[in-house]
Amino acid sequence: MRTQRQVVDYSLQKRALLRDVLSGRVGTYEVCDASPYLKNAARFHGEPTDRRCPICRRENLTLVHYIYGDELKQSAGQARTPTELPVLAMTFREFQVYVVEVCRACDWNHLVEQFLLGRDGLIDEPVAEAAAAVGSSTSGSSATGVGAPATKRRREARR
Ligand SMILES: [Zn+2]
Repeated sequence: MRTQRQVVDYSLQKRALLRDVLSGRVGTYEVCDASPYLKNAARFHGEPTDRRCPICRRENLTLVHYIYGDELKQSAGQARTPTELPVLAMTFREFQVYVVEVCRACDWNHLVEQFLLGRDGLIDEPVAEAAAAVGSSTSGSSATGVGAPATKRRREARR
């Protein structure tokens, strides 16, 4: 997704946990504890994958995308389908997405990754132009920098 940023990958934690399960240090009942809410979210808003459940190997994993952020108001904390996310990303400035993988057979679940979406991701230097327009320069530095020229060109072309 175009505005995706600040991605945090939890695959290392997942692998460590799976090692503990395989070695018997952690019981499967401890990791196969998907709540009814999570299972419903997987059923109605989930994204199917072709990856087998690492615990039971009976079913493919389903990804559930949860959205969080003040701007979302009552939608915060809800699950959204992958097709809804780009629309939301153009509607809101910034919100957090948590991706959880779920096995609908054995209830295994684990956080896969989190990232930010939203219109703010389209602009790498949000203040630079605005500041120039009003004659102040409160923020001249860009934290990311990468891809800024291309993003700026896109913005100017759209105006
Ligand atoms: Zn399973």
